Amino acid sequence: MLLHPCLFFHLLVFVIFTSSLDFKRQWICKPASKFPFRLKATPEKDYSSSVFLPTTTFEQRANAATKELQIQQWWDEKGICDEILRGGGDPFVLHDGPPYANGDLHMGHALNKILKDFINRYQILKGRHVTYIPGWDCHGLPIELKVLTTLDDTTRKSLHPLILRKTAASFAKQTVMNQMSSFKRYGIWGNWTNYYTTMSPSYEAAQIRVFGEMVQKGHIYRGRKPVHWSPSSQSALAEAELEYPENHRSRSIYVAFEVVQTNNLTLSLPTYLVIWTTTPWTIPANLAIAINPNISYAIVCHPSILRGSPLILAEDALGRLVSKFGLQNGESFEILSVIPGQKLEKIVYKHPLNGRELQVVIGGEYITPESGTGLVHIAPGHGEEDYLIGLQYGLEIFSPVDNRGCFTVEAGPDLSGKEVLSEGNLCVIRSLRERQSLIAEELYSHKYPYDWRTKLPTIFRSTDQWFASVQSFKSEALRAVDSVQWIPRIGKNRITSMIESRGDWCISRQRSWGVPIPVFYRKDNGEPLLSIETINHIEKVFRDHGSDAWWELDLIELLPASYRDIAHDYVKGTDTMDVWFDSGTSWAGVLQSREDVRFPADLYLEGSDQSRGWFQSSLLTCVATQGTAPYKRVLTHGFVLDEKGTKMSKSLGNVVDPKDIIEGGKNRKKDPAYGADTLRLWVAGADYTSDVCIGSNIIKQAAESYRKIRNTLRYLLGSLADFNPTNDSISYNLLPSIDRYILGLLTNLVKEVEVAYEEFQFSKIYQLIMQFIVVDVSSFYLDVSKDRLYISGRQTYRRRATQTVMNEILNQMLLILAPILPHLAEEAWLNFPYPTNTTSIFQQKWSARNSYVNSDADRQRWEQLRDLKNIVNKGIEKARNAKIVGAASEVKLSLWTNDSVLRSLWVDMMGEDDLLPEFHLTNGIDDLRFILSVSEIEILPEIGQENKEDSSITESFSRGDTGLTIVVRKTPSSKCQRCWFHAKSVGSSTDFPQTCQRCSEILRKQNFIKRC
Ligand SMILES: [Zn+2]
Repeated sequence: MLLHPCLFFHLLVFVIFTSSLDFKRQWICKPASKFPFRLKATPEKDYSSSVFLPTTTFEQRANAATKELQIQQWWDEKGICDEILRGGGDPFVLHDGPPYANGDLHMGHALNKILKDFINRYQILKGRHVTYIPGWDCHGLPIELKVLTTLDDTTRKSLHPLILRKTAASFAKQTVMNQMSSFKRYGIWGNWTNYYTTMSPSYEAAQIRVFGEMVQKGHIYRGRKPVHWSPSSQSALAEAELEYPENHRSRSIYVAFEVVQTNNLTLSLPTYLVIWTTTPWTIPANLAIAINPNISYAIVCHPSILRGSPLILAEDALGRLVSKFGLQNGESFEILSVIPGQKLEKIVYKHPLNGRELQVVIGGEYITPESGTGLVHIAPGHGEEDYLIGLQYGLEIFSPVDNRGCFTVEAGPDLSGKEVLSEGNLCVIRSLRERQSLIAEELYSHKYPYDWRTKLPTIFRSTDQWFASVQSFKSEALRAVDSVQWIPRIGKNRITSMIESRGDWCISRQRSWGVPIPVFYRKDNGEPLLSIETINHIEKVFRDHGSDAWWELDLIELLPASYRDIAHDYVKGTDTMDVWFDSGTSWAGVLQSREDVRFPADLYLEGSDQSRGWFQSSLLTCVATQGTAPYKRVLTHGFVLDEKGTKMSKSLGNVVDPKDIIEGGKNRKKDPAYGADTLRLWVAGADYTSDVCIGSNIIKQAAESYRKIRNTLRYLLGSLADFNPTNDSISYNLLPSIDRYILGLLTNLVKEVEVAYEEFQFSKIYQLIMQFIVVDVSSFYLDVSKDRLYISGRQTYRRRATQTVMNEILNQMLLILAPILPHLAEEAWLNFPYPTNTTSIFQQKWSARNSYVNSDADRQRWEQLRDLKNIVNKGIEKARNAKIVGAASEVKLSLWTNDSVLRSLWVDMMGEDDLLPEFHLTNGIDDLRFILSVSEIEILPEIGQENKEDSSITESFSRGDTGLTIVVRKTPSSKCQRCWFHAKSVGSSTDFPQTCQRCSEILRKQNFIKRC
């Protein structure tokens, strides 16, 4: 026998329909155009052409890599997305957080954009006017560096900012185009023609406007902050421009600071606080000594150190310090007392070089006895931690070092003009020694930041920077956080604690690729000019020309007309804004600047790390100027990890590329092309509220679910090949009980799915849909309905009723699947066997669907029957294993129960003894024979009445007082070659002796001629 290719399909399909494996019917994979079913006038060798098997143009194979692209093209050509997004209805705005326009997309981007698309497409189906404007963050250091690394040293050094900016802009533009095409491939719908970037003139102008409003409200100020500074290139450096060579040798010193006020602590004076530093040149800028309040400090002495005066050191550091301080073998400190760290706070000491009186402060947990002395020298002008402590204690940001890395006069007359990294360092050490404050000195090898260009050491130095005073609107910001709905709730705690503990926001950067801080400085005294008039003027200039104008235009054009005569008294600033200020003002650049959106947004949706980033910068700029949050709801998702839950990294080689999932990896056997919908189904199934995992096996599971959904849709489409709801539907009231029951389940499913969509619980939607498809539809309803669909006459009530139900399942299922699997849903829609009332599934409306309700009694009845069917299936399976029967249709079933209600339910559902052309005892549908898919059924009056001599399988169950027994044995009747049921009447027809009476009557009506 030739194996028809369709048999493969038939095997696949029926893997899903597991409960009645005997009732196999092969699909006919012929195009729907051959419909209606041919009724044979010529002799046939069997009855297969007389049964109505499913047929459809919807292919079994997804071939998603090609077909999804065709569907996307079709959406474009028909203008479906544009038309839908232009539609009316209550507006819904999910505001896109702009990804950085640098490099390729990773799984995190895919997760983020796909989640957004689920929500947008659901809202479209709900009839909302959805506006989704994708955006990109284009300025900033990573792109600037990317441009710089393509240039040689000489070009780089002589590079004009405008050239760099043009190159960076073109790089960003290209990346935007690349990323956009990937996002579109994921099936993301949005306004791809009028997207936003942070480098567009109108966006930059809006950003300047927000900055101006913050200036006007007094939230912007100029202050000092330590930054990495390269004396060799006389410029501030970002972290990415530093190199950390090993074995940099520093002269490290142990310095004693004399206590002058003990602050209620009993100390005999003089006592000394001892610190350790690897940067002696920062000692002139010392403004505090920090301790850890949670460790113990010892007061010790030794006759050879500072004439035996008491020294304060971390208790656990003593053993290590013995040799550092030059004590001989076997010698140790004399411990006078041990005190908890917190008692040292507010002790006053005297600076050995300048005589200033300064205080001991509380530092962080980073202070330990493991290195140094457990007391840390604090110079707020020369270190990040120092700076933060300085802010906390209101210390001056003192940094007596100039651009060239030389001490200024503020460091003292002895030091002024000396290079801090060479002579200045030595000079400090010498002065400390002369004042008898130097306890010890040693060379110290460690990693140290170098300028990546000059290959020379850098320093930490404070420079003038621009700040947003978060302190002045912090409580307002926290109130705004309260007014927002955070999903999941933990997102709220995260951002609240971050805002509570944060300091002011340094918004200036010493870079070229960004939006300039629109400030001018007087040439004579450096005083900044930043007025509402000048800012408004710059806003207009940027709107007309983009921010390149800052470098292109003369001062006279950058300043308003009223400054024309004095323009030459000013220079323009060279700082640009922090890129978080760029993206953080997108509510102004997009939501407030465009007509088709609204402010505040209905939803922001990004990774949980954006509590530190975009959620926060958006909130701060918006609260500072508008007094409100830019969003009503914020949804956060976790990160994507590999299959084992490990972070993905190039070096580990465990990076999963979304492109490989869609288009296939290098090894197509291992990583086939799954298409975007399988990727999307993975997103739907993942619990995004925490980190999510992906890998070959996980995506395989998603692909398997996709296949089950696809096959079910295909079966439904095929079953409706000769059905048109307008003419062929049976009204709900006339439907049999099983059909009304399954429609009730469908309505429940859609309701639950709707709630889950509203609450963004996509993994719940995934579970609900899979459960319905596999358990309720495939294994139960479609299995039970096959006899009605294939065997009954075409126009019969039995057949049209189940088609009515299948049509309803198909339509509603596509609606709820469409946001998650848009390509599959659209493909199915395009393969409908009858004309649909809209071109695209996405023009359907959720509200237009039908609703069906099961009564409690009906639901209970069908739950009991499904229980019975499961029990019977188990019994048949045992009988099959025992070789008593080969298939369920060979089964004669005996049933017994002492539950009178259940028994009367069975009795009501007992049909005729035989398969006859007309059903009289039941409607031929709510009939136990067909529900259980067996040929013969008898209800036993008492247990033990069954004939034990037969070869049979008996299964008994009891629940409480009720008992149930089934007996499975082989029916003595012959098999009907058309419907495969066994019936007494097989052989009674002269025309069709191999069929039952029911089938022979149908064949007669079909004028079927059987070849003998
Ligand atoms: Zn038959």
